Amino acid sequence: MLIFEEFIDFCERIFDASKDDESVYSKIYDLIYERYKQLDIKELELHNGAPEKIKKFMEYYSGLVRLTPERAKKRILNSFGMLQRLREEYLIPVFASDNSTVKNKKALSCSELKTEIKFVKGIGPKKAKLMNMLGIENVEDLLRYYPRAYEDRRRIVNISDIIGEEKVTVSGKIVAAKSTRTKSGMWILSASITDETGVLIVNWFNQNYLRNIITEDKSICLTGKVKYGKFAGWEMQSPDFEILEDSEIVQRIIFPVYRVTNGIHVSNIRKAVRNTVKYADCLDNGLPSALESKYELLPVSEAVKGIHFPKSDYHLKKCKTRLVYDEFFFFQLAALYARKITDKKNMGKAKIFKGTLSGELENSLPFKLTSAQKQACNSIREGLKSEYPLNVLLQGDVGSGKTIVALLGMLDSVEAGYQSTIMAPTSILAQQHFENVNNLVKGLNVKTELLISNIPEKDKKEIKARIKNGEVDIVIGTHAIIQDDVDFDNLGMAVIDEQHRFGVKQREKLINKGQKVDTVVMTATPIPRTLALSAYGDLDVVIIDELPPNRQSIKTVLISEKKSKELYDFIKSEIAMGHKAYIVYPLIEESEQMDLKDATSMYEFLKTGPFSGTGVGLLHGKMKAEEKDEIMQDFINGKYSLLVSTTVIEVGIDVPDATVMVIEHPERFGLAQLHQLRGRVGRSHRKSYCFLVTTDTSPESYGRLRYFSETENGFLLADYDLKTRGPGEFMGVRQHGVPNFNLGNIVEDIDILENARKDAKEILESDPGLERHEELKIYLYNNYKDKMSLIDIG
Ligand code: ADP
Ligand code: MG
Repeated sequence: MLIFEEFIDFCERIFDASKDDESVYSKIYDLIYERYKQLDIKELELHNGAPEKIKKFMEYYSGLVRLTPERAKKRILNSFGMLQRLREEYLIPVFASDNSTVKNKKALSCSELKTEIKFVKGIGPKKAKLMNMLGIENVEDLLRYYPRAYEDRRRIVNISDIIGEEKVTVSGKIVAAKSTRTKSGMWILSASITDETGVLIVNWFNQNYLRNIITEDKSICLTGKVKYGKFAGWEMQSPDFEILEDSEIVQRIIFPVYRVTNGIHVSNIRKAVRNTVKYADCLDNGLPSALESKYELLPVSEAVKGIHFPKSDYHLKKCKTRLVYDEFFFFQLAALYARKITDKKNMGKAKIFKGTLSGELENSLPFKLTSAQKQACNSIREGLKSEYPLNVLLQGDVGSGKTIVALLGMLDSVEAGYQSTIMAPTSILAQQHFENVNNLVKGLNVKTELLISNIPEKDKKEIKARIKNGEVDIVIGTHAIIQDDVDFDNLGMAVIDEQHRFGVKQREKLINKGQKVDTVVMTATPIPRTLALSAYGDLDVVIIDELPPNRQSIKTVLISEKKSKELYDFIKSEIAMGHKAYIVYPLIEESEQMDLKDATSMYEFLKTGPFSGTGVGLLHGKMKAEEKDEIMQDFINGKYSLLVSTTVIEVGIDVPDATVMVIEHPERFGLAQLHQLRGRVGRSHRKSYCFLVTTDTSPESYGRLRYFSETENGFLLADYDLKTRGPGEFMGVRQHGVPNFNLGNIVEDIDILENARKDAKEILESDPGLERHEELKIYLYNNYKDKMSLIDIG
């Protein structure tokens, strides 16, 4: 059987697929007639007037065969408009055409939105406490507590018609119900349901409170997956259900399913929402009506009602679109607005320079900048010259040459008379930058200093004094730079390397060491542009999407654990040539919960077994910073040729003679993270290798790793991860501070995200202070407190 909406969707697909193919015109009518006969009449009749319309629709197309191809085509093209009108007429509720929302709003007392949840009908103080735990304090929270899923009960199946192990909705009477306890102490509530065509056995586990709800003689509607039971016949386990009142017939509608907690049943929330949903008319966020009409968005009040009680899939989609748009729009607006305000405060000091210093450096480089690097340089230079502060997220794959781009900007700032600084997450990395920068600026009369915590106190004092009185042009260091006792004479530009290792607060702290500080934050974990935009709504994203020429590709090989001996032999042969190798494990120490190899035990094994006689080091995240530095230094110096490690080595360490990276249990890591690890080798002319040693042979895991082994582009890998594992799983997302959108999915809803960002930008360009958008502004201040509070920090 087919419901009305399915029929419309089906027709549309048929017309769309055949519109350009004359040879199938004669078959179209038969195809749709076949489906027409399958229509569930009872469901169709629920749509007042639809049966007649559909009949006419069928008649219109029955004559298709007799028409010339041109006229037939015309008629076929007409179908799209007709089907869309049917949707609009029958698949979304009637509303709003007469401004009913405004009228309703006047009749409602909108202060009810703030009514505490315990006063809502059907929710007592006890349940209210549990609701609080779900984040629901008042009526408005409840309305904004969107369903996590839906049960489509528009199709009701006879028990005798169940044909496979599928998810179905069944309606019937409870003919028996009993609760028993197993030996292991688990409660099982078992009920028999009949709809007069058959019997269905239903079980609930450890939900003993249901025994007073699921009782004999009641009518019930259930949705769940059926399977063929142990004792013959169909069974359902822990289905979602609704007890029907005596007089109630089954409502053939889409039911919302909510995330619940122990002691609260979905039906509790469903009832509470039903009792309060009229207050959705009071919800408004001031989104300009021009934007509503631009995308034909439903009013927010209607969208909230519909997200709880959608009339059709089509309706649900429209409601979601509106609410997702709002989420993205307000997030971006808040970020951009806050940025505008801070920018304005800091405005007024454009840097003036000719680019002589940076030009000298560029000319003395042993290589030519890639065009992507040049473009990035130009973006940064423009920003420095502008009277608005520069706020850039500089993204580029491992080895794309971000440092030089940042350094050229720093030299421009120095030429303009300002100090610059670069902050890195570890002292090794800071030292590396320091050496590189010193090499590059040799002969340019630019004074640099290294400021990290592990230098003698006396030297540190001296360095700080020199920074304070302006004798140092470029300060390179770690967290040591943002300590309270570090003062700059005239800080004008700050670069933060591997920015995901730092928090927003630390960024603020560094920026606050000067006035109107231009900032460039760099990340080598490429995150897709959309994600970057949504994560850093307040930053401009500049991407270096090209690697310098003549980069060697790193041979990436998937191998089985059984080949360990051959692998160790290969590593030994590399070490014999003076090269170095890493082996990375997912765990630091042995774990009882997980059957995985760990760095500590493997270190013991490798050092005394296969690699006895070779210098083997151990590095992991539980070690103190100094200890880690020392081990890294020993690896660089050659005391160790093999470094056994966890993912702590992931950040931009440069050991040019390292040529082998072995990753054990690679399926445990995100692709972006694997890419980072792989980027630790191949940093010189020497041929380099990455081995993924895997025991997981599932096709899914294999497919991912295979893709990784064939793909060298970090952005593609990040995209793949994002698409297959979702933003939540994406490596380091939490560190990246990507917001958790309630409904919006930055991958699936990317178009909406981009539109919303553009719209938010346009509004702020025409009305920077939001003076002409008072309602919007109020909504922002009430709902985006975090972002707005940044305004006051700046
Ligand atoms: P990342 O973007 O990973 O931080 P780096 O800035 O550390 O990369 O650059 C990696 C290496 O590439 C450095 O040794 C740097 O000198 C070199 N490099 C940078 N730009 C170029 C270029 N255009 N051509 C050749 N080598 C370059
Ligand atoms: Mg780097």
